[in-house]
Amino acid sequence: MRSKLIISLTMVIIFMGLFQSLFFQSRVEKIFENYLSESDKMKVEMIKQAVTSYYVSTGSLEGVNQILEISNRMNMNMENMMGHMGGPIEVTILDASGEIVVDTTTKNMGDKKSAVQEPLVIKGETIGTFIAYPVKSDSISRLEQQFAQSVNVTILLGFLVAVLLSLIIGLFLSKKITKPLSQLVSGIEQVSKGKTNFRVTIDSKDEFRQLGDAFNKMTETLERTEHIRKSLVADVAHELRTPLTIIRTKLESIQSGALEATEEVILNVSDEVYRLSRLVNDLQQLSLAESKTLSLHKKRTEINGFMEAILSQIQWFADEKDIRLHFNKSSTHIFIEIDRDRMTQVVVNLLGNALRYTPENGTVMANVKVEGKSVVLSFQDTGPGIDEQKLPFIFERFYRVDESRKRDEGGAGLGLSIAKGFVEIHGGDIKVTSIKGEGTTFEVILPLPGDNDS
Ligand code: ADP
Repeated sequence: MRSKLIISLTMVIIFMGLFQSLFFQSRVEKIFENYLSESDKMKVEMIKQAVTSYYVSTGSLEGVNQILEISNRMNMNMENMMGHMGGPIEVTILDASGEIVVDTTTKNMGDKKSAVQEPLVIKGETIGTFIAYPVKSDSISRLEQQFAQSVNVTILLGFLVAVLLSLIIGLFLSKKITKPLSQLVSGIEQVSKGKTNFRVTIDSKDEFRQLGDAFNKMTETLERTEHIRKSLVADVAHELRTPLTIIRTKLESIQSGALEATEEVILNVSDEVYRLSRLVNDLQQLSLAESKTLSLHKKRTEINGFMEAILSQIQWFADEKDIRLHFNKSSTHIFIEIDRDRMTQVVVNLLGNALRYTPENGTVMANVKVEGKSVVLSFQDTGPGIDEQKLPFIFERFYRVDESRKRDEGGAGLGLSIAKGFVEIHGGDIKVTSIKGEGTTFEVILPLPGDNDS
């Protein structure tokens, strides 16, 4: 990666250097050519004038070469005075019949492409042809060469500096790019070996940082999931062990004759069997509640009626404990889209807890109200309340606030996890507030659809 980056940067600079050099070379030639042609045009015109005047005064082109010499010398003197550096103009003059009268060109003159060829016309009569070849002077050629050379040297120097800079920048950039990448690669390797607690620290503010954060989030989730998976198996085994041990020892004692299978003993065993089947049922609900892909069978439901139906089913439990069970329904009908079975489970778990943990003669209130774009179902009890420090954990699986009470009252500590899971699948939220010694309130917040007017 690093070498690729440096090579590509250097290649770009080499190409740019070559391109610049060629470009400048051709520009320099063009500039010099233009410079020449402007002053040459003047010189050619002057020589032509001199030749014409000579013809007018002598009536022939015979001996015109002297004029050419004089004109060229004059031109050179003038240029010297003006600081120009043009070259001489070589000339070929043909007479009217096309015969060469004068030819000052030499064989080693080289480039003859910039010739000017014009007829010599006097009073409408063509007396011959005038061909002029501007010749680059040595000084001009030297100057052009020097200029081109110095441009090339400058380009070469610039090129070397650019290559050096590209190496430095390339090294710096590649380090910046490859460092977080190699950190991530080694992170991925560690995670694939099972080290889900591996985190990367990327000290940049770019996309690599985002990538690093995403990676860390992913490993956190993996670690949590892994922890949950491990603890779930341990917790389930733990929960199963107690009732199974009780059942087994009771049955063995009956078998050995040490215990009589009285009605009370059988009731005791069947109690444990009930606990077991409740645990299995809870576990099944939990696995549903925690599967984020659970398909809900949502139906448009009027929430006050829905709550009333559940409350009437559970009333016996409140009556048994002499608990006043109130329902404050909302003043209007509220329709929401819910999976009734799952939401019944949520309400039963919360109301069940409220009734279970509230002492006799207490009060449990269920309320339905609209808050903004949500409907809030709250369950308020006058139970013992929950310690503030323990509140953040009560939605965790197998969490019980009071371990010692677990076998007589309450279940395996799954009810709230199940409720939370189902509420979240509905796009809602569940909250708890509690004051020790005064009571606890659970709130289920569910999103309202846009059409609640009836
Ligand atoms: P469980 O099946 O044991 O009731 P939950 O998940 O439903 O498990 O509840 C977890 C713990 O939260 C319970 O063990 C209990 O200590 C506490 N809890 C739940 N609801 C209430 C409540 N209304 N009042 C007091 N404590 C509660």
